[in-house]
Amino acid sequence: MTTIERNLQQVHERLKRSCAQVGRDVNAVALLAVSKTFDADAVCLALDAGQHAFGENYVQEGTEKIEALRKLRPSAALQWHCIGPLQSNKTRPVAERFDWVQSVDRLKIAQRLSEQRPADMPDLQICLQVNVDGGANKSGVAPVELGALALAVSRLPRLKLRGLMCIPEPAPTFEAQRDLFMRAKVLFDQLNAEGLALDTLSMGMSDDLEAAVAAGSTMVRVGRGVFGSRPEKLTSVA
Ligand SMILES: *Cc1c(COP(=O)(O)O)cnc(C)c1O
Repeated sequence: MTTIERNLQQVHERLKRSCAQVGRDVNAVALLAVSKTFDADAVCLALDAGQHAFGENYVQEGTEKIEALRKLRPSAALQWHCIGPLQSNKTRPVAERFDWVQSVDRLKIAQRLSEQRPADMPDLQICLQVNVDGGANKSGVAPVELGALALAVSRLPRLKLRGLMCIPEPAPTFEAQRDLFMRAKVLFDQLNAEGLALDTLSMGMSDDLEAAVAAGSTMVRVGRGVFGSRPEKLTSVA
């Protein structure tokens, strides 16, 4: 058994345990393997262990890996999620190659993705990144602006608004961490009550997935827990 295969088993065990603890169905929480900084061979190992959805932060690195995997595993059904901050001059390769973008936090980015999504591809699946803990220089739409952005994005052609993504700061206790995630859950429920039919609440990473599951996460994004530790330099810009 490879290390990545064993790591994947351990992450699935953690998901099973944390779901059981709060009475949730483990099938309601998807695992996104965050492969940033890891090479195409690592993605192949995860794929061979049954993992099909991968997250990338950097456009250039992500598009290269997508091309590499097309050659290495031409018949595999892979799903690629862009989860890093997106500049408006870098939307085209994302619109042309990724399946999901989870880091949309302003209308201009969504409009460009909508215009640039090739008509012969399935709709680009979108999550809005929301800044739940208010750091002024953090990515993510402010909660007070979320409703208007969600409505506008939901009306754009070739995009399908699926839900919300958030990356709260680390909190000192499980309960404090869960309460930060709960802010996103409250916003998610509000948007659904307003009729948006969202099904994806993307939150929780290697260090805090239990708290995210307790708050209602439907997709955890796990990098180090699956692939091992990243080089220090790259971890800090992530
Ligand atoms: C890097 C990253 C992750 C994964 O982080 P780990 O701590 O390695 O699990 C998840 N989401 C986003 C947006 C990231 O940038």
